[in-house]
Amino acid sequence: MQIFETIRPAQQQISEYRKTGKTIGFVPTMGALHEGHLELMRRAKAENDILVVSIFVNPIQFNNPADLEKYPRTPEKDNAMLRQVKCDMLFAPDVEEMYPEPDNTIYQFGKLASVMEGAFRPGHFNGVAVVVRKLFDILTPDKAYFGEKDYQQLAIIQSLVKQFSIPVEIIPCSIVREKDGLAMSSRNIRLSDNERAIAPKIYEILKKAVSLRKVLSPFEMEQYASKELQKIELFDLEYVSIADDTGLQAFTHWNDVNGARIFVALQLGKVRLIDNVRIF
Ligand code: AMP
Repeated sequence: MQIFETIRPAQQQISEYRKTGKTIGFVPTMGALHEGHLELMRRAKAENDILVVSIFVNPIQFNNPADLEKYPRTPEKDNAMLRQVKCDMLFAPDVEEMYPEPDNTIYQFGKLASVMEGAFRPGHFNGVAVVVRKLFDILTPDKAYFGEKDYQQLAIIQSLVKQFSIPVEIIPCSIVREKDGLAMSSRNIRLSDNERAIAPKIYEILKKAVSLRKVLSPFEMEQYASKELQKIELFDLEYVSIADDTGLQAFTHWNDVNGARIFVALQLGKVRLIDNVRIF
């Protein structure tokens, strides 16, 4: 695996791959890798000649400075995991390399960015769009792999690619869960034993809510999940939202939309967790 911390040499390596007609599959991450990330990488490796991974904890997508400071960093373990999936190239720049001067680009995602994570984390998606666009410019992947764990992020990236005609195919990947149902996340290692034991309730409650689709309206399902989550003392609920699976907007009747998901964000101790489940 070749490791690049600076942009120029990374670009040179990419153009070498291009000269020999190799296709590039790209997985952007913030490190503290887990099996969820590895699934994206295995798929990218299988579907392309070259697997490129980036690890960059992007400061401008953190609206909460404490969250940025506490974000887990496990570089040695990450390297071992990247070798395990036969990653060809790791791009791991520092903040100065990515932002030699502030990037003040403002993207417009309309209603897509005004709900859920967009409403609770001001500036978050703009920061995501800035970094992902830069990474796409530098690494020019044919395909880029994003997890449905961050479903709204995936929708934002799809919009970014459309708006700017970026020549990359975005590949959505299913959520990878622990055996007990908790969605894998780099942040999970910050949970105490007690918090970790209760965390699978999130998925349990979402699944139970979804199973009641035939008897509950979208509004009632949202209320149900919200009530059940609030019963758990350690959960500090931010939102539960049922939204259509493309525009991510609320709706009144099940047959108003072609597909829907239920989304949740909550604080568990010092850790903010998100999850979502497909309804249909
Ligand atoms: P992150 O390092 O948290 O920025 O995540 C990097 C990529 O991995 C994003 O596309 C995430 O959606 C994806 N990802 C993170 N956790 C999971 C998971 N449990 N299942 C599937 N994809 C995930």
